[in-house]
Amino acid sequence: MTGIVTDIQRFSLHDGPGIRSTVFLKGCHLHCAWCHNPETIGLSPELLFYAQNCIGCGECVEVCPEQNHHFDSNGSHRIAREHCRACGICSGRCPASGLRIAGKRMKVEGVMAEILEDEAFYHEGGGVTLSGGEPVIQAKFAREILQACRNAGIHTAIETTLCYPWSRLEPLLPALDLVIFDIKAFDSGLHRRYTGADNHWLFKNLALLNRSGKALIARTPLIAGINDSVAEIEKIVAVLKPLRHLLYYEFLPYHPLGTGKYAALGLPAPRLRAPDAETLRLLADTALSAGMKLLINGTEEHHEIQQPIGTLA
Ligand code: SF4
Ligand code: SF4
Repeated sequence: MTGIVTDIQRFSLHDGPGIRSTVFLKGCHLHCAWCHNPETIGLSPELLFYAQNCIGCGECVEVCPEQNHHFDSNGSHRIAREHCRACGICSGRCPASGLRIAGKRMKVEGVMAEILEDEAFYHEGGGVTLSGGEPVIQAKFAREILQACRNAGIHTAIETTLCYPWSRLEPLLPALDLVIFDIKAFDSGLHRRYTGADNHWLFKNLALLNRSGKALIARTPLIAGINDSVAEIEKIVAVLKPLRHLLYYEFLPYHPLGTGKYAALGLPAPRLRAPDAETLRLLADTALSAGMKLLINGTEEHHEIQQPIGTLA
C-alpha cells in the first residue's frame, strides 16, 4: 500500500504525549484561513520555491522538461506552475535549497522504516502521530500505518478535523490510542466561512467518540476577530464538558508560522493575528471557570501564560 507523505517529523513534542514522530499525510478537504501547512492541502505533490534561497544559477531553467522556469529581464524568477507536474528534476538539481517537492509517494514499509529509527523514544512515553492535511483523506494508508505501529507496540495518535462522516474514522479506531481533534468554531456559519466546511459532522463524531472510550485532546486555533470571543469559547466548552475521556483542552493562538510556505507555493499569505494577551486571558478564564483542564500553546507575546494552566490528567 502506498500513499502521499509530505513529511515525517522526528522528535516532535507538540503532537501528543512524549517524544513522537509525526507523519504528515497530504490532502485536506478543509481550507482553513489560518492553515500552517498549506502544502498539505492538495492531494498531489507540489513544487515549493523559496525565492530567498535562489542564487540565480539557472540550473532549473536548463533541466525542466516543461520549460517552466523563466528569468524576467529584471532578474526575477518566474515559474509556470500550471504546467508543473512536480517531477522533482529541478529540485533535485538546485544547489541552493531553492526548490522542494512537497509530497512523495511512500510505501507503508518505507514509512515504518523511518519511524522505527526512533523506536527507543516510543517506549519512553512517546509514539507516532498521523497529521496532515487530514489523515482520513488517505484512510486506507493511514489505517495500515497505524496498524503497523500497533503491531510494533507503538502508541498511536491522529490529528484530525472530525469534519467528515463517522465511517471514515471508524476503521482507524482499533489501532488508535488517542484522537487529537480541532474544534475551530461552534457557530456553523463561522466554521463554513473560515474553513470551507460545515461542522455538523464534528459534533456527531464527538458523540460517537465519547461512547467509544477513546482518549481525546481538543484544540482550538484562536484567531483575533474570528473566533476569539467569550461566547464562542463558552459554547465550545459546553460541547467538550460531557466528553468523559477528554485529557485536556488546548488553545492554539495563531502564529504566522506557515506564511513562508504560502509564498513558496505562489499563494497570497493570510493576514491574521493572535488574540492579544488580555483577550487570551479572558478566554482562558472562561474555560477554566467551567472546570476545563487547559493548556495554552503560546506565542512569545503570550509567554507569561504559555505554561499549562489547570491540572493536566
Ligand atoms: S518539478 Fe518538474 S515540471 Fe515542475 S518545474 Fe520542476 S522540473 Fe519542471
Ligand atoms: S536551480 Fe535553484 S538556485 Fe538555481 S536558479 Fe533555480 S531555484 Fe535558483
